[in-house]
Order: sequence, then structure tokens, then C-alpha cells
Amino acid sequence: MKYLKFKNSDEKVPIGKLVCVGRNYAAHAKELGGEASTEFPIIFLKPASNVIFSGESVIHPPYSENLHHEVELVLYIGEDIKNGTDEQAEKAIHGYTVGLDMTLRDLQFKFKEKGDPWTLAKCFDTAAVLGDVVLKKDYQLRGDENISLSVNDTVKQNTSISNMIFNAAQCVKHISSRMTLEKGDLIFTGTPEGVGRVVPGDKLFGEIENIGTIVTQISK
Ligand code: ZN
Repeated sequence: MKYLKFKNSDEKVPIGKLVCVGRNYAAHAKELGGEASTEFPIIFLKPASNVIFSGESVIHPPYSENLHHEVELVLYIGEDIKNGTDEQAEKAIHGYTVGLDMTLRDLQFKFKEKGDPWTLAKCFDTAAVLGDVVLKKDYQLRGDENISLSVNDTVKQNTSISNMIFNAAQCVKHISSRMTLEKGDLIFTGTPEGVGRVVPGDKLFGEIENIGTIVTQISK
């Protein structure tokens, strides 16, 4: 079992399910050849066993030729919520962190073409990298924090989270209308444009203004 890491708290919270939002920045939907729609974007899951923490290495699966980085704002769900209102959705978010949704883009494109589930493009050991969770009592999200990711000191992704099509509370509200969210669940809110390939030896540095940083390197 894996436990969350918090800034300023020793609470032991087992990590639940990771619920990930697909196309939540219009410019990223475009770069993958899709359209951002006014309907809620696609949702997929990752298991908690995929999680590693900042400082640990992402292991490049040998069956992919195109491992991509996706830096994302991650929401920590601190209380159970089902069919939440706007207020309940906001209240269920107890904190924030930086996350990497590592993706096997070649497998994902193959699955998309065939209409198959993305599962094995998104789920593999080390596919989700997490920073420390900042609790809301220590920091209130403004909604326009900068989010960025560098590979070997070159900036690849860099924008404001205000470019999210659905904001943090809207993501929680929608997901809770489809499945119960429980304490310890994490919501990956989607990645901005600039995703790209990484190879063994690459060093990744992700940052969300006022929330934190994340470092990892790609290993064989
Ligand atoms: Zn993602």
C-alpha cells in the first residue's frame, strides 16, 4: 500500500484511485489532433501501485518507443463525495500537488485507432509521479498559478492553470456524478500543451507556482 506525502502534516492517508482527466487544455487537445469540446473530457484511471514520489525514477517500459511527460495539477480528495454540488466539490478538495501522468503515446495512438481502452498506455509501474500535498489550510488555490515542466533544463510545458477548460471544483463535481470519490483519491486535472518524448537519462523538473516542485529521471 502507498501513502500520500504531505507538507506540514504527518497524517497517514493511503492513496486511493487516481482519476485522470484527458483533454482539459484546448491547446493540448489540438496538439494531439483532437478537439476540446464543451462536454466534460474523457476520464481514465490509474492504480495507486503506479505511484512513485519526487526523487524516484520513472522506469521506461521496454515495449514502448514513445514515453511522454504530462505535468498536471493534482487534487487531493480529503472526504467522500458523491453527486456533489459546486460547494461540496470545492470542500472535498483538501489539498494540491504537482503530478506527472507518464504516458506511452505510441500505445495510446494504437488503442485510439482501434477504439480499444487506453489502460496499458496509461498504467505501468512508475506511471504516476507525485510531489508533496499542500493542504488547503496552508494554501488556497487562486486558479491562475503557473504550471511548467522542463526536460534537461529546457522548458517544454509552461502555462497558467487558468487555461484549464474545467477548473478544479468542476472536475470534482463532474467525476463525483459518475463515481464516488473517497478520502485519499487523487484527481489529475489534465496536461497543458508541450508534451513530448523522454528517454533514459533525461531529468524532469515540474513546478506549480506556490504548490511545489517535482523531480524525476528516466531509467531503463
Ligand atoms: Zn494526463
